[in-house]
Amino acid sequence: MELVKKKEDCCGCRTCEKVCPKGAIHMEEDACGFLYPKIDPGKCVDCGLCLKKCAFQSGYEKRKEYDPFYAYGVRHREEQVYMESRSGGAFTAFSDHILERSGAVYGAGFDDEKGPFYVRHSGTETKEGRDEYRGSKYVQSDLSDVFPEVKERLENGQAVLFTGTGCQIGALYAYLDKKYDNLYTLDLICYGVPSPRLWQDFLHMREEEIGGKIESAEFRNKKECGWKACRESVVVNGRSYRSRIYAKLFYGSDIRPSCTQCPYTNQERVGDITLGDFWGHEKAIPGIWDDDKGISLVLVNTSQGKKLWEMSKDMVDHVDVTGYPFRHSRMRKAVKKPDDYDMFWEDYEKKGFVYCAEKYAGHKKKKKGVSQSGAEQGHLIRRVVRRLFTKR
Ligand SMILES: Cc1cc2nc3c(=O)[nH]c(=O)nc-3n(C[C@H](O)[C@H](O)[C@H](O)COP(=O)(O)OP(=O)(O)OC[C@H]3O[C@@H](n4cnc5c(N)ncnc54)[C@H](O)[C@@H]3O)c2cc1C
Repeated sequence: MELVKKKEDCCGCRTCEKVCPKGAIHMEEDACGFLYPKIDPGKCVDCGLCLKKCAFQSGYEKRKEYDPFYAYGVRHREEQVYMESRSGGAFTAFSDHILERSGAVYGAGFDDEKGPFYVRHSGTETKEGRDEYRGSKYVQSDLSDVFPEVKERLENGQAVLFTGTGCQIGALYAYLDKKYDNLYTLDLICYGVPSPRLWQDFLHMREEEIGGKIESAEFRNKKECGWKACRESVVVNGRSYRSRIYAKLFYGSDIRPSCTQCPYTNQERVGDITLGDFWGHEKAIPGIWDDDKGISLVLVNTSQGKKLWEMSKDMVDHVDVTGYPFRHSRMRKAVKKPDDYDMFWEDYEKKGFVYCAEKYAGHKKKKKGVSQSGAEQGHLIRRVVRRLFTKR
């Protein structure tokens, strides 16, 4: 059985691993740090179930019921919530509703088992647990063993809210293969997912440069730089250090090969509700929340989604934008494979992360133990002194 003919065919969702009746499939990391299934030929009986259940290759169930979908610009009523969220904090409102009714919420959080700040999906029944899922982690989240766990909860009658990228939601439906009235899904408008290994390499480089252990990390630091800025940050010894290295690589070549052929990048949404950043809000809802603090775009795609929206909408301020022609590129087509994509990954494999950060993100590596802000301060002082003397 040949499951993955080329890397573009596999989104790494683990469905094949979970459905194989012989336990013949396990996931292995490739040289770029992405997970792919490996089949044990000694155990495989060629039943073909892995391919049949592969939503990425065999097609996913398009679930959109409304055309046009109901669409809303949304901001959570509490400033603390939307400032801790990537967009306007819509996810918190939907998940609060489920948690307050003894349901479970699934999302992507950090876990240190496979290295610091490893991004992994898990489930929680508490708001504290859910808060860990807030904010976009621009790394492919490992779905681990969540699908069988979700199924068990659903079979037991518990309400479940499952959140993730389109490929993760499509994979969950393929795995379950049954309609559950107690399942709600939120898919994200998604640019693509970067490599977990590259994320670890980035953190390691920053620890070396700054000279201390990273206490927390943010992929886009909204509080310090604003919602629209593309800057990551890390906190070391209580101080925040910003950079624009990881973001440049992410919007360059650091995405999984399958993201360049993603079948979910269209208006035929797979989740009950779709969440995204409300880019283009300046034209769609002029003068509203124009403060660079984030607005969620909420698309209600199914009657199940409408139920969840109706029950959660009192927790948010919202503007109805149904029928507005949104221009999100990732609702029209997959991200184009960059011209230097293959070269980037070849360089990464042969020469490593630091080389790629310099070549593809223009990063100048700092000396070990010299903090970026220390170096920046020195540079600033030298500039001011130089200017003073030049004027004379
Ligand atoms: C990799 C990635 C790429 C994205 N690309 C775009 C884009 O191109 N255009 C756009 O408009 N929006 C994009 N988004 C969606 C956007 O960034 C916000 O996630 C969305 O608007 C929800 O914001 P919020 O404030 O409502 O929720 P938040 O509180 O920020 O909630 C975040 C939600 O995202 C989930 N999540 C976080 N990281 C991951 C991950 N790595 N994998 C799966 N799920 C995750 C959490 O479980 C949670 O449900 C992307 C998100 C991710 C994770």
